[in-house]
Amino acid sequence: MTDTSTAAQPHLSTADAALIPTETPGIAVANRSFDAIVAALRSALLTLSAPQQPVSVAVPPVIARALLERVGYVDGFPNLLGTVHSFAGSPARWHELQLARDEQNAPWHTAQQITDVAVLPATCYHLYPLFEGKDLTEPVVVTAEAYCYRNEGTHEHGRLRSFRMREFVRIGVADEVTEWRDAWVARAERWLGDLGLDVSVVPASDPFFGGAGRLMGATQREQQLKWELTAPVGDGAVQAVASANYHKDHFGTPFSIRIGGETAHTACAAFGLERITLALLAAHGPDPASWPARVRATLAVGPR
Ligand code: ATP
Ligand code: ZN
Repeated sequence: MTDTSTAAQPHLSTADAALIPTETPGIAVANRSFDAIVAALRSALLTLSAPQQPVSVAVPPVIARALLERVGYVDGFPNLLGTVHSFAGSPARWHELQLARDEQNAPWHTAQQITDVAVLPATCYHLYPLFEGKDLTEPVVVTAEAYCYRNEGTHEHGRLRSFRMREFVRIGVADEVTEWRDAWVARAERWLGDLGLDVSVVPASDPFFGGAGRLMGATQREQQLKWELTAPVGDGAVQAVASANYHKDHFGTPFSIRIGGETAHTACAAFGLERITLALLAAHGPDPASWPARVRATLAVGPR
């Protein structure tokens, strides 16, 4: 069947995968071919994780402000956090105010107020509350993907404000959770290597603990709570395409999650789908059909 819907917009249906920039820095639209790669990455990641039998949930791209406060995100990353504002009155009241604002030259958004929700900064914040107050009998793995928002201060290649993050979270006890995290680092390094990416594993300071005490950063690195997998994403930029974190009881305590009566420990493995796609394009070119057979097999995109 001929696709007539995109015929007039060749850049939307071209085989060349692209993130189409918008007039707003850090906000981009994926064309069809780019999104097909994202879909292939998603299904490859779910296949990779299948032996862990993760419970899959779908999460919204907004989250309670109170929850982010509770887990320390507001103190840690006030600069990255975006909140949702809205107008609480009727349309009639809005138009009354509009007239008054016109006289004062005030922008329309000054009539809005902050709501109880913020834009989701990381997928996994939706996952811990699902286990609030529970005493688990065995470790669980949960997975979800969401568009995340971060008010990034710079917009170099691969640093978006809105991007998709697939996460896997394990809730369990300290030792086996760190082993699980380490196994994800090794698995992700192998997988990204099979995708033909020049990947490095580097220790990083943990986003879940950072911020408030910048000095925490060094401690986190010493304790190796967070590993990042970096790769060239094009334009000379090297970015973290994935990360794996051990949170100790950072989430187990505030959400009273227990396992066998003890406070649970958690870890997560996070994958930036746009960044991995950009890295693939940087390594192999814009048309997936001409990528090396091994890469296409690993990803199961394009002709095999
Ligand atoms: P960075 O160090 O680049 O700021 P981060 O360490 O804050 O990233 P994480 O919080 O570990 O990132 O998020 C998990 C993954 O989400 C990252 O490894 C990356 O692939 C992706 N990601 C994070 N921030 C962005 C962004 N601004 N644009 C695109 N992808 C991102
Ligand atoms: Zn980082």
